[in-house]
Amino acid sequence: MAYPILRVHVDVIERNARAVAAKCAEHGMTVWGVTKGISSPAEIARRLKGTGITALGDSRMANIKRLKAAGVDMPFALVRIPMRSELEDVIEYADYSLVSDIGTLSEMSALCEAKKKTHKTLLMADLGDLREGFWPDEAEKVACELKNLSPALQIAGVGVNFGCASGVLPSFENLSRLLLFGKTVEDALGIKLGIYSGGATTRSLEGMDAELFPPGINNLRIGEGYLLGTDKSCGVDIKWLEQDTMELEAEVIEVRVKPSFPIGEVGRDAFGNIPHFEDRGLRLRGILGVGKQDVYVGSLKPLDEGVQIITASSDHMIVDLEDCPVKPKVGDILKFRPEYAAMLSLSTSPYVTKIYEG
Ligand SMILES: *Cc1c(COP(=O)(O)O)cnc(C)c1O
Repeated sequence: MAYPILRVHVDVIERNARAVAAKCAEHGMTVWGVTKGISSPAEIARRLKGTGITALGDSRMANIKRLKAAGVDMPFALVRIPMRSELEDVIEYADYSLVSDIGTLSEMSALCEAKKKTHKTLLMADLGDLREGFWPDEAEKVACELKNLSPALQIAGVGVNFGCASGVLPSFENLSRLLLFGKTVEDALGIKLGIYSGGATTRSLEGMDAELFPPGINNLRIGEGYLLGTDKSCGVDIKWLEQDTMELEAEVIEVRVKPSFPIGEVGRDAFGNIPHFEDRGLRLRGILGVGKQDVYVGSLKPLDEGVQIITASSDHMIVDLEDCPVKPKVGDILKFRPEYAAMLSLSTSPYVTKIYEG
């Protein structure tokens, strides 16, 4: 098998998904399992069925179409607000979408009519993170416009996203504003909305037991939580989930004692940065056959004792091995645990061999 390898423990991910769905059910919430963080392999997607997760969420129509073609039999939600250019596919292949533009909703409504298809959509509200969403005080105006649309486009609920563009966290207060946004839409349209989708992993799984959610929030869209067992926004491992869901395995291609401080005048590196190094004297250094073209190096945690990441270029990652109890040799394999950005890049890179086991 060609290195570098991303080894994924699908059984652990499945247990995490089950635990997330059970925990959310205790709090009256359904869960959509978001697969985009690991580039949506069918090997994982098909294992989410039966865990209690009610739909699969992905940001890209290409992933949703591929998973459906692979026979993954679950409802699908497009979790990135759609491009106008992909609306035909959205209506054709996705069961749910998240939308924040009235013109887009109007085109979707026309497509539902033309294709004789129904589609369920959630109106997104921007409650401060300043990514997607209608402004909360637009609720009534939006609802008025919706009255002219085809009933084939069902307004299934409302949603909000936190922690992605500006790092704003969900709170009892801002989630209460989602309830108000939804209620205003309900009153204006004279309907009941089934889904109040209160966000992603960000603080949600950690905050659930501490009454973060006002009653009425009944859905979450979770990726990081079950894929990694972590909540990066809070910088924590989620105690009731498992973290050993996947590892990067990379091969050592040079080991040598070298000074830790560069020799000569230092200019910008290939990425335009001027690197700074601490002078720690002579140290045992290793090079691994993996680099920035494969992985976002800053989001890797070494799993072998004593290994520290120094820096990386496109194809080389340099590590300090001086403190390793057993000194690695050329040809050895070192392991790393990816955080979210590393998982995203590793799973996207065509140069990384993916192995799904368990
Ligand atoms: C990515 C995404 C999610 C899932 O996020 P995680 O942090 O992986 O839980 C949920 N909702 C939307 C709109 C997203 O873009």
